[in-house]
Amino acid sequence: MTGNHRLAMGLYISIPFCRSKCTYCNFSSGVYPAAAHSRYVERLIEDLAGARAWAGGAGAELPERIDSIYLGGGTPSLLAPGLLAQLFAAIRDGFEIDSDAEITMECAPGQIAGAMLEAMTACAVNRVSLGVQSFVDREAHESGRLHTRAVVEDDLRRLRAAGIVNLNIDLIAGLAGQTFASWEESLQALIACDAPHASVYMLEVDEDSRLGRELLAGGARYRAGLVPTDDAIARMYERALEQLEAGGLKQYEISNFSRPGFASRHNLRYWRRRPYLGVGLDASSALCGEHGLLRAATTGDLEAYLAGPQAIEKTWLTAAQQHEEAWFLGLRLNAGVNVAELEQEFGRDLVAPAIVTAQRLAADGLLDFDGDTARLTAQGRLLSNDVFQEFLTETEVAAG
Ligand code: SF4
Repeated sequence: MTGNHRLAMGLYISIPFCRSKCTYCNFSSGVYPAAAHSRYVERLIEDLAGARAWAGGAGAELPERIDSIYLGGGTPSLLAPGLLAQLFAAIRDGFEIDSDAEITMECAPGQIAGAMLEAMTACAVNRVSLGVQSFVDREAHESGRLHTRAVVEDDLRRLRAAGIVNLNIDLIAGLAGQTFASWEESLQALIACDAPHASVYMLEVDEDSRLGRELLAGGARYRAGLVPTDDAIARMYERALEQLEAGGLKQYEISNFSRPGFASRHNLRYWRRRPYLGVGLDASSALCGEHGLLRAATTGDLEAYLAGPQAIEKTWLTAAQQHEEAWFLGLRLNAGVNVAELEQEFGRDLVAPAIVTAQRLAADGLLDFDGDTARLTAQGRLLSNDVFQEFLTETEVAAG
């Protein structure tokens, strides 16, 4: 991170509440009563007010200006409208929000009450990310989603009528029961919606979701037996690339697609290593400071979080670690990694071994590398985790 990026930061606020738990979900989110919502917002406000002292104590710089805010979760639109207003008042108390800041809120389709929509516009929310996952009603229902395609289309109409036109739709390839035909239906519905941004994820299989556990341990409750094979999911992803591109949504990151000018400014921060503060449950921060780059993470235990301020895990990254991040975060972007910029930031000696790695991966067909800029190939995107691993030092790989 260089000096001019210190001028403004992004703010991520985690809202871990949902109306029901989706089968594939591996986030720290759950169904909690309204009393937990108000206590949680109190805690967020407390943490926002204490952020400057915390950062100062850690030796990190907390910019006053904010140019992007992202309320993720969870389902932030489930908060009472008054709580959203309190939260934004606290942000404005502690920070200066740019007049053209990108302010995103994640919403679940069918869960944006009229009063909430009014509160969102009053708080200057100007981007909404809708967790659609599938436009096929049966698939959405069986994944634990509570909407139909008609509900999504109605939400989009209401959001646009309220002046929120910067809209993202999330889809997941690999849901139980999904077929090539149903995936095609979701892709075509997404394009027909004319949203300027889409995120397409491949199903993650791990112990943190009910579907993932069933896939790993067996069982039939969440229809794990009907999850498409890895090869089929990869083909669905490739089909998404073709169809979205044809529909005018250009890929700019492994999972993200946009019309010109609609790439997510907040999410770009993560891949470009720009500073951000994360507040709430299971939130991470990246801030510049006296020892370089500080990465911090809050607790994922809601009870502990509600009980009062918690210790925040902090790590100052070494120059070598920052350089590795520059590769595996930068390669996520279609723009790729520019070697001259890295040499300027980290020095030639640190970058030289990574250039050799990039040349080897290019020979294997996983990167396009002309000596100047390295980018993932189509094959490299499908094997991106393996590619990123190649840029980690042997010590870190051994340490896991
Ligand atoms: S996928 Fe989204 S809406 Fe579903 S449980 Fe997870 S956080 Fe909640």
